Amino acid sequence: MPVWNPWHGCKKLSPGCQNCYVYRRDSSIGKDASEITKTGSYDLPLKKDRQGRFKLTPESGVVFTCMTSDFFLPEADGWREGCWDIIRQRSDLHFHIITKRIDRFAECIPDDWGDGWENVTISCTCEDQERADFRLPVFIGLPIKHRRIVSEPMLEEINIEKYLADGLIEQVTCGGESGENARLCSFDWVKELRRQCVRSGVPFYFKQTGALFRMNGKDYRIERRFQMAQAEKSGYSYTPNTGCADRIRYTLPTRADLFARLAKSTFRSRFRLSDEDRQYIADKGLDVIRAHAADFVAKKLAPENPPKDGRQTPMRGHPIFKAQHATACCCRGCLEKWHNIPSGKTLTDRECAYITDVLMDWVVKRL
Ligand code: SF4
Repeated sequence: MPVWNPWHGCKKLSPGCQNCYVYRRDSSIGKDASEITKTGSYDLPLKKDRQGRFKLTPESGVVFTCMTSDFFLPEADGWREGCWDIIRQRSDLHFHIITKRIDRFAECIPDDWGDGWENVTISCTCEDQERADFRLPVFIGLPIKHRRIVSEPMLEEINIEKYLADGLIEQVTCGGESGENARLCSFDWVKELRRQCVRSGVPFYFKQTGALFRMNGKDYRIERRFQMAQAEKSGYSYTPNTGCADRIRYTLPTRADLFARLAKSTFRSRFRLSDEDRQYIADKGLDVIRAHAADFVAKKLAPENPPKDGRQTPMRGHPIFKAQHATACCCRGCLEKWHNIPSGKTLTDRECAYITDVLMDWVVKRL
Protein backbone atom coordinates (compact mmCIF):
# COMPACT_ATOMS: atom_id res chain seq x y z
CA MET A 1 0.00 0.00 0.00
CA PRO A 2 1.52 3.35 -1.00
CA VAL A 3 1.97 5.84 1.83
CA TRP A 4 2.50 9.55 1.33
CA ASN A 5 3.71 11.47 4.35
CA PRO A 6 4.09 15.11 3.27
CA TRP A 7 4.94 16.09 6.85
CA HIS A 8 5.87 14.21 9.98
CA GLY A 9 5.08 14.67 13.66
CA CYS A 10 1.90 15.52 15.47
CA LYS A 11 0.33 16.95 18.61
CA LYS A 12 -1.65 14.68 20.90
CA LEU A 13 -5.32 15.60 20.87
CA SER A 14 -7.60 13.04 22.52
CA PRO A 15 -7.52 9.74 24.48
CA GLY A 16 -6.80 7.73 21.33
CA CYS A 17 -3.48 9.57 21.02
CA GLN A 18 -2.17 8.39 24.41
CA ASN A 19 0.01 5.61 22.99
CA CYS A 20 0.35 7.04 19.48
CA TYR A 21 2.55 4.79 17.32
CA VAL A 22 4.29 7.82 15.76
CA TYR A 23 5.45 8.91 19.20
CA ARG A 24 6.46 5.36 20.11
CA ARG A 25 8.41 4.84 16.93
CA ASP A 26 10.12 8.25 17.11
CA SER A 27 11.09 7.91 20.76
CA SER A 28 12.72 4.55 19.99
CA ILE A 29 15.18 6.45 17.77
CA GLY A 30 15.52 9.44 20.08
CA LYS A 31 13.30 11.70 18.00
CA ASP A 32 10.64 14.11 19.28
CA ALA A 33 7.36 13.36 17.47
CA SER A 34 5.82 16.64 18.63
CA GLU A 35 8.16 18.50 16.26
CA ILE A 36 6.33 18.84 12.99
CA THR A 37 8.50 18.92 9.89
CA LYS A 38 7.87 18.91 6.16
CA THR A 39 9.35 15.75 4.68
CA GLY A 40 11.39 15.02 1.58
CA SER A 41 8.35 13.11 0.28
CA TYR A 42 6.19 16.23 0.20
CA ASP A 43 5.66 15.92 -3.56
CA LEU A 44 5.85 12.09 -3.76
CA PRO A 45 2.76 11.70 -6.00
CA LEU A 46 4.44 13.94 -8.60
CA LYS A 47 7.78 12.14 -8.55
CA LYS A 48 8.77 10.32 -11.74
CA ASP A 49 11.15 7.49 -12.58
CA ARG A 50 13.96 7.62 -15.15
CA GLN A 51 11.53 6.83 -17.93
CA GLY A 52 9.48 9.88 -16.97
CA ARG A 53 6.62 7.83 -15.56
CA PHE A 54 4.97 8.63 -12.26
CA LYS A 55 6.32 6.47 -9.45
CA LEU A 56 2.84 6.16 -7.95
CA THR A 57 0.30 4.72 -10.34
CA PRO A 58 -3.38 3.81 -9.93
CA GLU A 59 -2.25 0.15 -9.95
CA SER A 60 -0.18 0.80 -6.80
CA GLY A 61 -3.46 1.14 -4.88
CA VAL A 62 -5.02 3.75 -2.64
CA VAL A 63 -2.49 6.31 -1.38
CA PHE A 64 -2.67 6.48 2.42
CA THR A 65 -1.94 10.11 3.16
CA CYS A 66 -0.35 11.68 6.21
CA MET A 67 0.00 8.49 8.23
CA THR A 68 2.65 9.90 10.60
CA SER A 69 0.71 13.05 11.38
CA ASP A 70 -2.79 14.46 10.95
CA PHE A 71 -3.64 16.12 7.63
CA PHE A 72 -5.69 18.81 9.39
CA LEU A 73 -3.10 19.69 12.02
CA PRO A 74 -3.01 23.50 12.54
CA GLU A 75 0.80 23.47 12.47
CA ALA A 76 0.60 22.25 8.84
CA ASP A 77 -1.77 24.97 7.61
CA GLY A 78 0.94 26.51 5.46
CA TRP A 79 1.72 23.24 3.64
CA ARG A 80 -1.76 21.82 3.01
CA GLU A 81 -2.67 23.94 -0.01
CA GLY A 82 0.31 22.46 -1.87
CA CYS A 83 -0.95 18.96 -1.05
CA TRP A 84 -4.43 19.75 -2.34
CA ASP A 85 -2.78 20.97 -5.53
CA ILE A 86 -0.92 17.66 -5.88
CA ILE A 87 -4.12 15.69 -5.20
CA ARG A 88 -5.89 17.81 -7.80
CA GLN A 89 -3.15 17.11 -10.36
CA ARG A 90 -3.18 13.37 -9.65
CA SER A 91 -6.90 12.82 -10.15
CA ASP A 92 -5.98 9.31 -11.40
CA LEU A 93 -4.90 8.34 -7.86
CA HIS A 94 -7.19 7.80 -4.88
CA PHE A 95 -6.07 9.41 -1.62
CA HIS A 96 -7.23 8.24 1.81
CA ILE A 97 -6.91 10.70 4.70
CA ILE A 98 -7.60 9.56 8.28
CA THR A 99 -8.15 12.36 10.79
CA LYS A 100 -9.04 13.11 14.39
CA ARG A 101 -9.47 16.79 13.48
CA ILE A 102 -12.60 16.64 11.36
CA ASP A 103 -13.81 19.82 13.08
CA ARG A 104 -11.07 21.69 11.13
CA PHE A 105 -12.02 20.19 7.77
CA ALA A 106 -14.31 23.01 6.57
CA GLU A 107 -11.62 25.67 7.10
CA CYS A 108 -8.92 23.54 5.44
CA ILE A 109 -10.45 22.63 2.07
CA PRO A 110 -9.52 24.36 -1.19
CA ASP A 111 -11.84 26.86 -2.92
CA ASP A 112 -12.74 24.41 -5.69
CA TRP A 113 -13.62 21.53 -3.34
CA GLY A 114 -17.36 21.85 -4.10
CA ASP A 115 -19.23 18.72 -2.99
CA GLY A 116 -15.94 16.91 -2.51
CA TRP A 117 -13.45 15.28 -4.84
CA GLU A 118 -14.07 11.85 -6.24
CA ASN A 119 -10.47 10.82 -5.63
CA VAL A 120 -10.42 11.53 -1.88
CA THR A 121 -11.73 9.38 0.97
CA ILE A 122 -11.87 10.94 4.42
CA SER A 123 -11.96 8.71 7.50
CA CYS A 124 -13.05 10.21 10.79
CA THR A 125 -11.71 8.41 13.83
CA CYS A 126 -13.59 8.04 17.11
CA GLU A 127 -12.04 5.99 19.84
CA ASP A 128 -14.83 6.41 22.40
CA GLN A 129 -18.44 7.58 22.65
CA GLU A 130 -17.58 11.16 23.57
CA ARG A 131 -15.35 11.57 20.52
CA ALA A 132 -17.99 9.87 18.32
CA ASP A 133 -20.72 12.23 19.47
CA PHE A 134 -18.50 15.27 18.94
CA ARG A 135 -16.93 14.35 15.61
CA LEU A 136 -19.54 12.33 13.71
CA PRO A 137 -22.33 14.95 13.57
CA VAL A 138 -19.73 17.32 12.06
CA PHE A 139 -18.45 14.60 9.72
CA ILE A 140 -21.80 13.63 8.21
CA GLY A 141 -22.64 17.30 7.55
CA LEU A 142 -19.52 17.93 5.45
CA PRO A 143 -19.20 17.87 1.65
CA ILE A 144 -17.25 14.63 1.17
CA LYS A 145 -17.66 12.10 -1.63
CA HIS A 146 -16.25 9.09 0.22
CA ARG A 147 -16.38 8.83 3.97
CA ARG A 148 -15.48 6.15 6.46
CA ILE A 149 -15.42 5.85 10.23
CA VAL A 150 -12.47 4.38 12.10
CA SER A 151 -12.63 3.33 15.75
CA GLU A 152 -9.02 2.50 16.44
CA PRO A 153 -7.83 2.16 19.09
CA MET A 154 -11.30 1.20 20.25
CA LEU A 155 -11.35 2.18 23.93
CA GLU A 156 -14.93 1.34 24.86
CA GLU A 157 -18.22 0.16 23.43
CA ILE A 158 -19.60 2.84 21.15
CA ASN A 159 -22.99 3.37 19.57
CA ILE A 160 -22.80 5.16 16.23
CA GLU A 161 -25.87 3.63 14.60
CA LYS A 162 -27.65 6.96 14.14
CA TYR A 163 -24.71 8.22 12.08
CA LEU A 164 -24.91 5.20 9.78
CA ALA A 165 -28.62 5.55 9.06
CA ASP A 166 -28.51 7.88 6.06
CA GLY A 167 -26.17 5.73 3.98
CA LEU A 168 -23.32 8.26 3.84
CA ILE A 169 -20.72 6.01 5.50
CA GLU A 170 -18.98 3.59 3.15
CA GLN A 171 -17.21 1.50 5.80
CA VAL A 172 -16.59 1.26 9.53
CA THR A 173 -13.21 -0.05 10.71
CA CYS A 174 -12.31 -1.00 14.25
CA GLY A 175 -9.37 -2.46 16.07
CA GLY A 176 -7.51 -2.55 19.36
CA GLU A 177 -4.39 -0.72 20.43
CA SER A 178 -0.92 -2.03 19.76
CA GLY A 179 2.25 -1.62 21.83
CA GLU A 180 3.53 -2.57 25.23
CA ASN A 181 1.13 -0.29 27.16
CA ALA A 182 -1.87 -1.09 25.00
CA ARG A 183 -5.25 -0.57 26.55
CA LEU A 184 -7.86 -3.28 26.45
CA CYS A 185 -10.14 -3.95 23.51
CA SER A 186 -13.09 -6.28 24.08
CA PHE A 187 -14.53 -8.60 21.47
CA ASP A 188 -17.98 -7.68 22.85
CA TRP A 189 -17.41 -4.05 21.78
CA VAL A 190 -16.31 -5.20 18.33
CA LYS A 191 -19.38 -7.38 17.93
CA GLU A 192 -21.70 -4.62 19.13
CA LEU A 193 -20.28 -2.19 16.57
CA ARG A 194 -20.54 -4.85 13.89
CA ARG A 195 -24.22 -5.42 14.70
CA GLN A 196 -24.86 -1.70 14.19
CA CYS A 197 -23.19 -1.96 10.79
CA VAL A 198 -25.15 -5.09 9.84
CA ARG A 199 -28.45 -3.42 10.73
CA SER A 200 -27.45 -0.34 8.73
CA GLY A 201 -26.13 -2.32 5.75
CA VAL A 202 -22.66 -0.77 6.14
CA PRO A 203 -19.48 -2.83 5.49
CA PHE A 204 -17.48 -3.48 8.64
CA TYR A 205 -13.76 -4.21 8.87
CA PHE A 206 -12.39 -5.78 12.04
CA LYS A 207 -8.80 -4.85 11.32
CA GLN A 208 -6.89 -6.12 14.32
CA THR A 209 -7.31 -7.27 17.89
CA GLY A 210 -4.69 -5.00 19.43
CA ALA A 211 -2.17 -6.25 21.97
CA LEU A 212 -4.62 -6.75 24.85
CA PHE A 213 -7.84 -8.42 23.81
CA ARG A 214 -10.73 -9.65 25.94
CA MET A 215 -12.74 -12.59 24.69
CA ASN A 216 -15.31 -14.65 26.62
CA GLY A 217 -14.33 -12.83 29.82
CA LYS A 218 -10.64 -13.66 29.51
CA ASP A 219 -7.84 -11.20 28.65
CA TYR A 220 -5.21 -12.24 26.09
CA ARG A 221 -1.84 -10.67 25.26
CA ILE A 222 -1.47 -10.91 21.50
CA GLU A 223 1.85 -10.44 19.72
CA ARG A 224 1.94 -7.76 17.03
CA ARG A 225 2.41 -10.29 14.22
CA PHE A 226 -0.81 -12.11 15.14
CA GLN A 227 -3.09 -9.13 15.75
CA MET A 228 -4.35 -8.74 12.19
CA ALA A 229 -4.35 -12.46 11.53
CA GLN A 230 -6.49 -13.17 14.60
CA ALA A 231 -9.03 -10.52 13.59
CA GLU A 232 -9.13 -11.96 10.08
CA LYS A 233 -9.49 -15.49 11.44
CA SER A 234 -12.50 -14.50 13.54
CA GLY A 235 -14.44 -13.85 10.33
CA TYR A 236 -16.14 -10.84 11.91
CA SER A 237 -15.47 -8.40 9.09
CA TYR A 238 -18.69 -7.97 7.18
CA THR A 239 -19.79 -7.08 3.67
CA PRO A 240 -23.56 -7.04 3.17
CA ASN A 241 -25.15 -9.72 1.00
CA THR A 242 -22.01 -11.75 0.39
CA GLY A 243 -22.59 -14.63 2.80
CA CYS A 244 -19.27 -13.74 4.46
CA ALA A 245 -20.57 -14.45 7.97
CA ASP A 246 -21.24 -18.10 7.06
CA ARG A 247 -17.58 -18.85 7.76
CA ILE A 248 -17.73 -17.71 11.40
CA ARG A 249 -17.21 -20.70 13.64
CA TYR A 250 -19.18 -20.79 16.86
CA THR A 251 -20.72 -23.24 19.33
CA LEU A 252 -24.35 -23.27 20.34
CA PRO A 253 -24.88 -23.33 24.12
CA THR A 254 -26.20 -26.47 25.73
CA ARG A 255 -29.82 -26.22 26.75
CA ALA A 256 -28.88 -26.59 30.44
CA ASP A 257 -26.33 -23.78 30.27
CA LEU A 258 -28.69 -21.52 28.34
CA PHE A 259 -31.63 -21.95 30.70
CA ALA A 260 -29.36 -21.52 33.73
CA ARG A 261 -28.10 -18.18 32.38
CA LEU A 262 -31.60 -17.04 31.40
CA ALA A 263 -32.83 -17.80 34.91
CA LYS A 264 -30.32 -15.26 36.24
CA SER A 265 -31.75 -12.48 34.10
CA THR A 266 -34.48 -10.46 35.79
CA PHE A 267 -35.80 -9.31 32.42
CA ARG A 268 -35.91 -12.77 30.82
CA SER A 269 -37.36 -14.56 33.81
CA ARG A 270 -40.28 -12.21 34.20
CA PHE A 271 -42.08 -13.67 31.17
CA ARG A 272 -44.89 -16.15 31.99
CA LEU A 273 -47.69 -17.83 30.13
CA SER A 274 -51.12 -16.49 31.10
CA ASP A 275 -54.23 -18.66 31.46
CA GLU A 276 -55.33 -17.25 28.13
CA ASP A 277 -52.02 -18.37 26.53
CA ARG A 278 -52.42 -21.88 27.96
CA GLN A 279 -55.98 -22.07 26.64
CA TYR A 280 -54.79 -20.89 23.22
CA ILE A 281 -52.09 -23.59 23.17
CA ALA A 282 -54.60 -26.25 24.28
CA ASP A 283 -57.04 -25.21 21.56
CA LYS A 284 -54.45 -25.17 18.79
CA GLY A 285 -52.30 -28.10 19.88
CA LEU A 286 -48.51 -28.16 20.24
CA ASP A 287 -47.88 -29.07 16.59
CA VAL A 288 -49.62 -25.92 15.42
CA ILE A 289 -47.82 -23.78 18.02
CA ARG A 290 -44.53 -25.25 16.83
CA ALA A 291 -45.44 -24.40 13.24
CA HIS A 292 -46.19 -20.81 14.34
CA ALA A 293 -42.81 -20.64 16.09
CA ALA A 294 -41.01 -21.96 13.02
CA ASP A 295 -42.82 -19.41 10.87
CA PHE A 296 -41.86 -16.48 13.14
CA VAL A 297 -38.26 -17.65 13.14
CA ALA A 298 -38.17 -18.03 9.36
CA LYS A 299 -39.75 -14.66 8.64
CA LYS A 300 -38.52 -12.40 11.45
CA LEU A 301 -35.13 -13.82 12.40
CA ALA A 302 -33.69 -15.89 9.57
CA PRO A 303 -32.87 -13.18 6.97
CA GLU A 304 -29.31 -11.83 7.01
CA ASN A 305 -30.59 -8.42 8.09
CA PRO A 306 -34.22 -8.80 9.26
CA PRO A 307 -36.39 -5.68 8.91
CA LYS A 308 -36.68 -3.66 12.14
CA ASP A 309 -34.19 -5.95 13.84
CA GLY A 310 -34.32 -5.39 17.58
CA ARG A 311 -37.96 -4.37 17.42
CA GLN A 312 -39.52 -7.23 15.42
CA THR A 313 -40.95 -9.24 18.33
CA PRO A 314 -43.99 -7.84 20.16
CA MET A 315 -44.17 -8.26 23.94
CA ARG A 316 -47.58 -9.95 23.74
CA GLY A 317 -50.18 -11.25 21.29
CA HIS A 318 -48.92 -14.86 20.98
CA PRO A 319 -47.37 -17.27 23.49
CA ILE A 320 -44.36 -17.66 21.20
CA PHE A 321 -43.60 -13.93 21.43
CA LYS A 322 -43.24 -14.35 25.19
CA ALA A 323 -41.08 -17.43 24.67
CA GLN A 324 -38.87 -15.43 22.30
CA HIS A 325 -38.20 -12.72 24.88
CA ALA A 326 -37.83 -15.23 27.71
CA THR A 327 -35.23 -17.24 25.78
CA ALA A 328 -33.44 -14.33 24.05
CA CYS A 329 -34.64 -15.47 20.63
CA CYS A 330 -36.34 -12.14 19.96
CA CYS A 331 -33.82 -10.46 17.62
CA ARG A 332 -30.46 -11.13 15.99
CA GLY A 333 -28.58 -9.14 18.62
CA CYS A 334 -29.96 -11.35 21.40
CA LEU A 335 -29.31 -14.48 19.34
CA GLU A 336 -25.67 -13.44 19.06
CA LYS A 337 -25.24 -12.43 22.71
CA TRP A 338 -27.02 -15.39 24.26
CA HIS A 339 -26.75 -18.17 21.68
CA ASN A 340 -23.50 -17.20 19.87
CA ILE A 341 -25.28 -17.19 16.50
CA PRO A 342 -23.50 -14.42 14.54
CA SER A 343 -25.47 -11.50 13.16
CA GLY A 344 -25.24 -10.77 9.45
CA LYS A 345 -25.80 -14.31 8.18
CA THR A 346 -28.88 -15.98 6.79
CA LEU A 347 -29.85 -18.61 9.34
CA THR A 348 -29.48 -22.19 8.20
CA ASP A 349 -32.25 -24.78 8.57
CA ARG A 350 -30.27 -26.24 11.48
CA GLU A 351 -30.13 -22.87 13.27
CA CYS A 352 -33.84 -22.24 12.65
CA ALA A 353 -34.66 -25.69 14.05
CA TYR A 354 -32.47 -25.05 17.11
CA ILE A 355 -34.29 -21.77 17.87
CA THR A 356 -37.70 -23.38 17.36
CA ASP A 357 -36.69 -26.19 19.74
CA VAL A 358 -35.58 -23.69 22.40
CA LEU A 359 -38.88 -21.82 22.11
CA MET A 360 -40.94 -25.01 22.37
CA ASP A 361 -38.86 -26.23 25.33
CA TRP A 362 -39.72 -23.04 27.17
CA VAL A 363 -43.43 -23.32 26.28
CA VAL A 364 -43.74 -27.00 27.21
CA LYS A 365 -42.02 -26.45 30.57
CA ARG A 366 -44.63 -23.82 31.44
CA LEU A 367 -47.81 -25.72 30.55
S1 SF4 B 1 -3.74 12.53 15.89
FE1 SF4 B 1 -2.92 10.53 15.27
S2 SF4 B 1 -0.80 10.95 14.70
FE2 SF4 B 1 -1.51 12.70 15.90
S3 SF4 B 1 -0.89 12.24 18.00
FE3 SF4 B 1 -2.99 11.52 17.74
S4 SF4 B 1 -2.78 9.36 17.16
FE4 SF4 B 1 -0.79 10.35 16.85
